[in-house]
Amino acid sequence: MKKTLTKAQIRQAVEEAYAECKDIKGGVNAHYIPFLANVNPDLFGISLTLLDGTQISVGDTEYKFGVESVSKVLTAILILKQYGAEAVLKQIGADATGLPFNSIFAILLENDHPSTPLVNAGAISACSMVKPQGDSWGKWEAIINNFEALCGSRSEVLDELYRSESETNFQNRSIAWLLKDYNRIYDDVPMSLDLYTRQCSIGITASQLAVCAGTIANGGVNPVTKEEVFARDLAPKITTLISSVGFYQNTGDWMYTSGIPAKSGVGGGVLGVLPGLLGVAAFAPPLDEAGNSVKAQAAIKSIMNKLGLGVFNGDTVEIVD
Ligand code: GLN
Repeated sequence: MKKTLTKAQIRQAVEEAYAECKDIKGGVNAHYIPFLANVNPDLFGISLTLLDGTQISVGDTEYKFGVESVSKVLTAILILKQYGAEAVLKQIGADATGLPFNSIFAILLENDHPSTPLVNAGAISACSMVKPQGDSWGKWEAIINNFEALCGSRSEVLDELYRSESETNFQNRSIAWLLKDYNRIYDDVPMSLDLYTRQCSIGITASQLAVCAGTIANGGVNPVTKEEVFARDLAPKITTLISSVGFYQNTGDWMYTSGIPAKSGVGGGVLGVLPGLLGVAAFAPPLDEAGNSVKAQAAIKSIMNKLGLGVFNGDTVEIVD
C-alpha cells in the first residue's frame, strides 16, 4: 500500500508518545554499574530524525547519558567499513544468541565465533579488530571519530562512568579471556577490553543517537551533515544485525510488537532504524529484566503504532511537509 505522512503527523505522534509514556512506572536503573544506578530515573526524551535532516525532539533529548550497548552498533559499522561484510561474518558472526548481553553460555555454545558484534563478546572482539592494530590511541581515535561522523557532533567519555565500569567489569574480563582462548580477540586483550569499556562510557544525547539512526536509515549518508559516513551496501548489514539481536533475549518479542529494528543500552537509550524513512532514539534509565529501557520501548512502539509504520508492513511510505 502507498502511504503518505506529513511532518506534522509525525511530530504529533512523538508528542503524544511522550505524554502517554512519561508517567509509566516500572523498571529499575542498571544496578550492576554503580554510576548508572544513581542517574535520575525520571529523565525521559524522544528524538526522531527524518532523512531530509528534520529533527523532532521532545523531553530530555540533550541530556548526556551512557551510550553503553548502543555503542556496539557504531563500532560494528566501523569494522564493517574497515574489513567488509564478509570478514565481519567470518571473524565475529551475525547470529542472534537468544541469551543475555553478557552471556558466557552463549560463547560456550558457539565457540567457533562470538555470534554477533552486538553482544558483549562480539563487541569486545570488534574493538580488537579496529584498525590501526596494536595502537590503543589510534584505535580510540577511529572509534570516537566514527561516533562523530555518524551522530553529526562530537561526544566524550563520561569519566566517572568509565571508572565505575572499569572497576566492576569482572564478567567482561572473563568473556575477553575466554574469547582469546578461542582465537577471537585480534589484538591485545586488556587493550581491547578497555576500548570496549571506554566506548560504553561515552556520553551521548537522544538527539545525537537519532541522527546516527537516521544515518543508517539513509544508507550511510548523515541526513544532517550530508557526509557519506559508510557505503550504502553496508546499511542492510547493520540493520540486519540490529533486528536479529538488538534486544537480546527479547528481540523477537520486540520486533513482533514494534515493527522496528532497534538497539538498546543499559544507560537507558534505544536507537531504532526504519530504512529509507527515519531514525528514532528514546532515553529513560529504568530497565526491564533484559536490560532494555521500559519507557523508551513504550515510546517507540507508540510512535510506530500511531503512524502505522513497520519494517515488514510492505508499504511504500512518503513523508511530505
Ligand atoms: N557496558 C555494559 C556491559 O558491558 C553494556 C551492556 C548493555 O548496555 N547491555 O555490561
